[in-house]
Amino acid sequence: MQKENCSDKCAERYVEISPQQAEWSQSHTLGSQLPYVFENGLQFNGFNAKCSGCMNQVESANLRGSLTHVSDNRCVLVAKGYCQPCNGITSYSFILTAGDELKAEIFDADIMPGSGGLN
Ligand SMILES: [Zn+2]
Repeated sequence: MQKENCSDKCAERYVEISPQQAEWSQSHTLGSQLPYVFENGLQFNGFNAKCSGCMNQVESANLRGSLTHVSDNRCVLVAKGYCQPCNGITSYSFILTAGDELKAEIFDADIMPGSGGLN
């Protein structure tokens, strides 16, 4: 028989998660969107995502985000990596440009127009 009142026990099972983690858990893994192939045939296969807390590599299964097509040879990568030992999230934002070779520029998503702040 189950005990009728389990509120104390049940509460222990739920670890409080931050809004960042909630958002992260709803995103697709980056790996499921790779490789990203540009018009000119260059491929982006992922990157070494390091945790900003412990500098260890974030497991690819814990790396989630999106690749957004901007133009034929350009896309924006926005990803968040969850590090279990740190219980922390590191954000990554790159603009990928496929010229003669693939180039990644870091950008700060907070200063992108449209994300608030700039009007
Ligand atoms: Zn870490």
